[in-house]
Amino acid sequence: MRIPLIAGNWKMFKTKAEALAFAEEFKALYAGTDVQAAICAPFTNLEALVEAFRGTDIKVGAQNVHFAEEGAYTGEISTAMLEEIGVDFCIVGHSERRQYFAETDETVNRKLKKLFQGTIRPILCVGESLEERDSGKALDIVKGQLEADLSGIDSECVKKLVIAYEPIWAIGTGRTATPEQAEEMCAFIRNTLIALYDEDTADAVIIQYGGSVKPANATEIMNMDEIDGALVGGASLKAKDFMEIIDF
Ligand code: PGA
Repeated sequence: MRIPLIAGNWKMFKTKAEALAFAEEFKALYAGTDVQAAICAPFTNLEALVEAFRGTDIKVGAQNVHFAEEGAYTGEISTAMLEEIGVDFCIVGHSERRQYFAETDETVNRKLKKLFQGTIRPILCVGESLEERDSGKALDIVKGQLEADLSGIDSECVKKLVIAYEPIWAIGTGRTATPEQAEEMCAFIRNTLIALYDEDTADAVIIQYGGSVKPANATEIMNMDEIDGALVGGASLKAKDFMEIIDF
């Protein structure tokens, strides 16, 4: 049984004071649902959010991590540092990191392997550009990302994985994939996992859609059979909007 997961991705928004104000408002709105809620926040907010959400079902995630245990990597954060403060999830391979910060399938693969040595569940982002979709290559691109990102990772680990299908052309553009496009790709991702692993493994993986999810389109997206959740950027910044999405 997969529990739907709706995660906010705050990107580089919110100071600690703003994060705490959100947490207070969100906790008051959040009555507990059948959906797992999580907030993936900037590093500087994580400890405060873990504290603020203690005693609730609301989980906290990071947006990036380094693949080394520790070392001379100025500006980076390790899995042990995130585990120590009680982080539950970590986004890996978001398209903005692939585009602006030289994230590659190879570094994504190393980060996943490192996270799977510990307790934090990765949210792996995959998705095609507009040009790739328009030239009919979307399925091949996503398949290639999955094969490379999951290379050498065994099925017991993959069962703990969350995959977010995020077409790059739908992120922050207001242009959402149609529910049918999202459903087609999420089904394709599950079939690719069956081919790479087996049915049991593929069945356990939570597959989210991300890209301009908002209160107005959450119901039709979340009601699709193959979509187990959403990764929400802009609309997760306001507690009321995010709660409306969770209450789809
Ligand atoms: P968006 O971002 O909801 O603002 O399109 C989604 C994401 O980047 O995860």
